Amino acid sequence: MTGTPTAVAAVAAVAADAPLEKTTVTRRPVGPHDVLIETEFAGICHSDIHTVRSEWGPTVYPLVPGHEIVGIVREVGAGVTRHAVGDRVGVGCMVGACHECAACDDDQEQECERGPVMTYASPLPEGSVEGEVTQGGYSTHIVVEERMVVRVPESLDPASATPLLCAGITLYSPLRQWNVGPGSKVAILGMGGLGHVGVKLAVAMGAEVTVLSQSTAKREDSLRFGAVEHHATGGEEGKANLKALRGRFDLLLNTVSADLPLDPYLRLLRPRGVMVEIGLPTEPARLRPGTLAAGRRVLTGSMIGGIAETQEMLDFCAEHGITAQIELIAAEKINEAYDRVVSSDVRYRFVIDAATF
Ligand code: NAP
Ligand code: ZN
Repeated sequence: MTGTPTAVAAVAAVAADAPLEKTTVTRRPVGPHDVLIETEFAGICHSDIHTVRSEWGPTVYPLVPGHEIVGIVREVGAGVTRHAVGDRVGVGCMVGACHECAACDDDQEQECERGPVMTYASPLPEGSVEGEVTQGGYSTHIVVEERMVVRVPESLDPASATPLLCAGITLYSPLRQWNVGPGSKVAILGMGGLGHVGVKLAVAMGAEVTVLSQSTAKREDSLRFGAVEHHATGGEEGKANLKALRGRFDLLLNTVSADLPLDPYLRLLRPRGVMVEIGLPTEPARLRPGTLAAGRRVLTGSMIGGIAETQEMLDFCAEHGITAQIELIAAEKINEAYDRVVSSDVRYRFVIDAATF
């Protein structure tokens, strides 16, 4: 692949309301600090769906989504020191950063002052051989600068470790930020791809975890993942549950992909408790300032995590035997899978077998 741009097989969105379809995408020649990765698996994150359907604003089509990528290094540039041919590696939501600003110096590339280069849909310099925007992991190969690539520990099953590259770091980072440990009372709101990994991580950190889910359908899974309680939030029963749970939690991680009123959930926090917005629905959030003022509650957010922390998370998962619960699918099933994610009908993450791209 060295020296010339190469067309590789991929699956792309061509319009907001059209099915994704098979195509090819151009990868740049392997530069001195790049690695060429042959994809083994690519996860389907709800962010892929928000983007493909232009729910966050107009998307540039065609677009190859995918920011949970695991594969094998097939080629390295002359200056590469961190990875070698044959290594199993991962790529998450970012493929570039300036590596010079204060945020990058602090290992927070997701907050890079020049803006991180996201794995897909990020503008590329004019004239780039790779096109107008970056193209993601639903493809057989990807070329990425070595600093943005992490090692996948050998003990982790590669398919079910794939969702850790986004879902894992996105939940690990706020759990660490808010010092979760033994004695912490943590609520996970929404048990989808992100939420179920969050339950496992928080349990492994020693927290007492409660799952808040629309219904009781996922109760047994919640308990199997180590949660001590599961409460339905929907309907009249949900209203009563939310009332009974007021003032209970130190930390509530909201992973819901749809618009929700925030007050009923903020009220579940103890005084000075923290609610973290992780789900990224499209509508502006609603809340009564009084709900925050009472008890000095904190409402904040969190966006993925840096590369060093992503490696730390993978090593933590290896140590604790944590992976996602996945449904492995062929590329032909992506459109069907998207509809099932939107209707919360996935247990708990779709992962695409890259051999089928
Ligand atoms: P997902 O697998 O679809 O999970 C979302 C969960 O939200 C569902 O399983 C469901 O949980 C709950 N939910 C969905 N619709 C709902 C509704 N109408 N009312 C109440 N609850 C509802 O999605 P995901 O991949 O985990 O991603 C979740 C969100 O996080 C998305 O918005 C995604 O874009 C965002 N995200 C953010 C970051 C970040 O860095 N901040 C990173 C990745 C993704 P129950 O069935 O348990 O109710
Ligand atoms: Zn994601």
